[in-house]
Amino acid sequence: MPAFKVAVLEGDGIGPEVVSSALKVLEEMGKLSGVDFVFEKALIGGSAIDQKGTPLPQETVELCLNSDAVLLGAVGGPKWDNLPTEQRPEKGLLGIRKALDLYANLRPAKVYEPLIASSPLKEEVARGTDFVVVRELTGDVYYGEPRGVFFQDGKRVGVNTMKYTEDEIRRVVRKAFEIARQRKRKLTSVDKSNVLEVSGLWKTVVEEEAKSYPDVELEHLYVDNCAMQIVRRPSSFDVIVTGNIFGDILSDEAAVITGSLGMLPSASLGDKYALYEPVHGSAPDIAGKGVANPIATILSVGMMLRYSFGLKKEADFLDKAVELTLQQGYRTPDIYSEGCIKVGTEGMTEAIIQAVRKLWQE
Ligand code: NAD
Repeated sequence: MPAFKVAVLEGDGIGPEVVSSALKVLEEMGKLSGVDFVFEKALIGGSAIDQKGTPLPQETVELCLNSDAVLLGAVGGPKWDNLPTEQRPEKGLLGIRKALDLYANLRPAKVYEPLIASSPLKEEVARGTDFVVVRELTGDVYYGEPRGVFFQDGKRVGVNTMKYTEDEIRRVVRKAFEIARQRKRKLTSVDKSNVLEVSGLWKTVVEEEAKSYPDVELEHLYVDNCAMQIVRRPSSFDVIVTGNIFGDILSDEAAVITGSLGMLPSASLGDKYALYEPVHGSAPDIAGKGVANPIATILSVGMMLRYSFGLKKEADFLDKAVELTLQQGYRTPDIYSEGCIKVGTEGMTEAIIQAVRKLWQE
């Protein structure tokens, strides 16, 4: 089997610490399953500003374009907060997403039984929650024209335009159907078609695409209803697909159900490229202390195995290894509760590697 090449963009703050953990786990997975992974590092964010004068050097873009997948830590920190917007670390992140034409953002919301008490929902409601929000990334009211603040009859008017082409809808909806096929085969499409024409088109295109996926159960929900159902019956969802602004809001709502920022992975997918990163930021308050929770980044690597490399078995093992490690009581300080075993970044990484080995042998 040929080697998979991963572009590694560690970024700033805890980025290098959590990325190093995830690469160790990936290397171990490679050894066990006989798959070769090749890692090549490049700069992004604040560290790229310091060394190259720009948050996204051209060689970083080139490396990503020539890799099978990209793993990113996090960017930003107080050191660069006072730079003009155009030169800030976050520009690197937006720039690389655009350069790779990533149009579908995946954010899983999974409640791990050993951490169920940290969910803000009642345990009986949160139990069994395991779904993914697929958010369209390139269209909608964030990009539609006209936009701006104009004068009308001597008064200011703020304008944004909610706009989707049918091709933009179709490609993300197909992606969501494909993801549902790899999971529990249920797709919830979210819109506001009772009021918005653009949502009417969204729903029509979803119905057209559904004909090619008769094995996937489809439901439609209005966004306001979906926001309620996510906190009432989160365990009933499998894959939720929606536009950019609804997805922005619903994916944060979904994230909070799980109870911990350090546990949340994400993927951004296009037709040719894919980028995987934890949802959290660079956590400057704990950077360099060896206490960052690496699980979000390790689970991001799990998504890479599943969605970029088609290594479903390995991805399942990784998910199970994280669950087993939590069952065994290992906790970084952000998820620690009394009676558990407190470990730092390295301790958690080692425990997960041991769990991967144990599960693989069994
Ligand atoms: P943050 O996610 O970095 O941190 C929020 C809180 O959660 C902090 O108390 C932090 O210590 C804790 N935390 C985050 N990840 C953790 C982990 N893995 N383990 C343990 N604790 C963890 O958000 P913030 O403080 O608002 O932002 C800090 C910097 O990160 C800013 O410069 C911001 O712009 C940047 N940021 C980057 C990204 C990204 O790269 N995708 C995302 C969000 C924020």
